[in-house]
Amino acid sequence: MAVGTELLLGQIVDTNSSWIGEQLALAGVDSHFQTKVGDNLARIVLAIREALARSDAVIVCGGLGPTQDDITREAIAAVMNVPLERDDSIIESIRAMFGTRGREMSDNNLRQADKPVGAEFIPNDRGTAPGLIAPVGHKVIYAVPGVPHEMQHLISTAVIPDLVERSGERAAIVSRVIRTWGLAESTLAEQLQPRIDALDAAGGNPTIAFLASGIEGIKVRITAKAPTREDALKLIEAEDAEVRAVLGSIVFGVDDDTMEDAVGALLEERALSLGVAESMTGGLVASRLVNVAGSSDWFRGSIVSYASEVKYDLLGVPRGPVVSDQAAAAMAEGAARLLKSDVGISVTGVAGPSEQDGQPVGTVIFGFHIDGATDVVSIRLPGDRDRIRQFATITLLDQLRRRLLDRVT
Ligand code: ATP
Ligand code: MG
Repeated sequence: MAVGTELLLGQIVDTNSSWIGEQLALAGVDSHFQTKVGDNLARIVLAIREALARSDAVIVCGGLGPTQDDITREAIAAVMNVPLERDDSIIESIRAMFGTRGREMSDNNLRQADKPVGAEFIPNDRGTAPGLIAPVGHKVIYAVPGVPHEMQHLISTAVIPDLVERSGERAAIVSRVIRTWGLAESTLAEQLQPRIDALDAAGGNPTIAFLASGIEGIKVRITAKAPTREDALKLIEAEDAEVRAVLGSIVFGVDDDTMEDAVGALLEERALSLGVAESMTGGLVASRLVNVAGSSDWFRGSIVSYASEVKYDLLGVPRGPVVSDQAAAAMAEGAARLLKSDVGISVTGVAGPSEQDGQPVGTVIFGFHIDGATDVVSIRLPGDRDRIRQFATITLLDQLRRRLLDRVT
């Protein structure tokens, strides 16, 4: 249950509930309802009562702050039918948190040391509001702050472990996300269907799920359950190999790996340096590459050659249309030459809103200069200006990744 009037007014989006939902699924806890309620005592109490009536456990996020509209504590006390008591020991840890941030604690913050009689605090070392574990008969209410990074910390370290413990199930659940780029979700699902059927037939462990993540590709999540973490990891490893055997080179990484991480690792492995010339992306390619820690080992730089004159005068692009194969090739070669890099890549195109050089919006041409040879790829991307530029950036990185994969180290 997400508490906050601003959620109902659409001023903020309830991303906490979707995050918590995902974590519950990963932990193998069934979650059947998500509720939003405003900052009103009677309505929060009503919502918690209804939630408790239909579930074994309720997680409430938000409304644990120090201000008068933060009333989750009061609501839980009302549901438990007990008064609030102030816990002096927690006052000190709240005061210490203010101290480390160089601020004075106000009297309002004392409210955060209140808990319903019979409830327990969940310490919060990322903020001042502790969470709560409040037993109600054989059921339980958890309360965590609304601030996302505090909420995530308390959910992962305290709430999920407590839930799993209460459920009496002693299984380890491990998951791995295989990152893919370049196939539509439906195509990918079709390719993996035989694997999914085989897993189903064998008892549904591990499981495979898909998650689209915008221009960053499709994630394939493998989740395994076993008596120990080691056993679960073994199942994951085996399935990882099966999935890769089916998907091949569209797999660029796992878990938090990004496309630029993949490109960086390949360049590093092959001891190659990279120079970029980018037009329509205006520095987006460089910006992604420098996201990678240690990119200075292989990234030489990027020339944002936006004006045609800069392409001609600086990069040596022959006069004429700048959204052309010839221009993309000259840009890639120019980047490698001027930036003294082993590999040069380039992107030129039409992000819109209007056409250019007789080329329609969405035309994107990439150049690749590797080992003395240059090739170009021309594609048409859908969408608006921003989407075309973002998509062009990741497509260029993926195309480079494929060329590096094909190149013997
Ligand atoms: P605080 O101690 O900061 O007051 P709190 O527990 O009272 O924490 P809220 O006041 O409800 O939490 O929310 C604090 C901030 O956290 C909100 O301004 C909002 O930015 C974010 N937030 C709250 N609830 C959600 C939610 N359900 N989804 C995403 N963000 C949220
Ligand atoms: Mg608040």
